[in-house]
Amino acid sequence: MNLKEFVQQKFTDLYGTEPAFIIRAPGRVNLIGEHTDYSEGFVMPMAIDRAAWLAIRPREDGIVSAYSVELDDRAEFDIGNLGEPGEGWGEYLKGVTWALLDEGHELSGWEGVLTSDVPVGAGLSSSAAIEMATAMAYTVLAGDDWNAAAMAKIGQRAENEWVGANTGIMDQMISASAVKNHALMIDCRDLSTQLVPLPEDTRVVILDTMSRHTHIGSGYNDRRAECEAAAKHFGVQFLRDLNKVELQKNVEGLDKTVLRRAIHVVSENDRVLQSMKAMQNQDPHIMGLYMNASHDSLRDNFEVTNRDLDLMAALAQETPGCYGARMTGGGFGGCVVALVKTDRAEAFANEVATDYANVTGLEPQIYICQPMGGTEVVKS
Ligand code: ADP
Ligand code: MG
Repeated sequence: MNLKEFVQQKFTDLYGTEPAFIIRAPGRVNLIGEHTDYSEGFVMPMAIDRAAWLAIRPREDGIVSAYSVELDDRAEFDIGNLGEPGEGWGEYLKGVTWALLDEGHELSGWEGVLTSDVPVGAGLSSSAAIEMATAMAYTVLAGDDWNAAAMAKIGQRAENEWVGANTGIMDQMISASAVKNHALMIDCRDLSTQLVPLPEDTRVVILDTMSRHTHIGSGYNDRRAECEAAAKHFGVQFLRDLNKVELQKNVEGLDKTVLRRAIHVVSENDRVLQSMKAMQNQDPHIMGLYMNASHDSLRDNFEVTNRDLDLMAALAQETPGCYGARMTGGGFGGCVVALVKTDRAEAFANEVATDYANVTGLEPQIYICQPMGGTEVVKS
């Protein structure tokens, strides 16, 4: 049974009727462009074949009530009386509701079942998947067209202003607007996107170190503040506006740590643009080199890797068939992403898993993934 059938079945078990709509909102993996989104820079993620699935039917009383299969828990609230932000997974739904209301949307209630195979806290953005599923629920019930960029911003506001995690726009944008068989180069300044084909005969492999992060209270918000401090020092609005030459001038008086954060963002933006060319030229070798360089910079300049991520990336890079590998997502744990020759993908996954387990004693999860389309209604 696939997740669509599963969520449909769960809905029928709970409510004794078929859902009115089933929504799929994917998780994502970022191929390159890490910690650049909140500096209005460039990112290159793709949606993966793991997603949040939400089966719903409308309610007339302005109540939203959702049951999470994974958490075996129900989140319930009144759209007209959201109160203050609290704790728990329901805050993602409430946050989206709050942001939509704040922007003048008229919302109607719904109830249903949520299930997701996006691992939590692994850097594959299980939270954005839930936010976009929620945004789609309101959209489809209102009979509106899906406005991917607008809904991505709603999701980001939910996360930043309601949940309290200062994450950028990348996760919601890719979940909202991905295109099957492609990565997307997103300019996080104006949210314009460019489709990027994957090189032929390559697969994207995600290697989960099984070590975990949390955005709230982690170094994530510190990094954001450091990037803002660097931009201020250089007299630009965002680090996006700084190039390599300007970065070398004017470093006097700048804290060394803050300088290294700036070096990462400026060089990473450049790597994304170069990577896009490599992908368009169907050149996985060049793409892989940029991925490796990205990891080095995230480790040495941005300092958001941990021992497990460094080990996993190194093992992946050394394993035959791998063009390049880097940590992906916010860091401090989670996953490595690798670009691998198609006919080596299975063997690569097994070999890296064995090597990683031998060193750490941890059994990694490995996903050979497909680039999927963005948030959609799959049944209505
Ligand atoms: P990620 O990197 O996976 O986005 P976050 O910490 O940003 O990590 O978001 C994870 C949170 O999303 C969980 O703590 C939970 O609140 C919510 N979440 C993820 N999956 C589910 C699910 N299946 N059911 C309910 N809530 C979920
Ligand atoms: Mg998240």
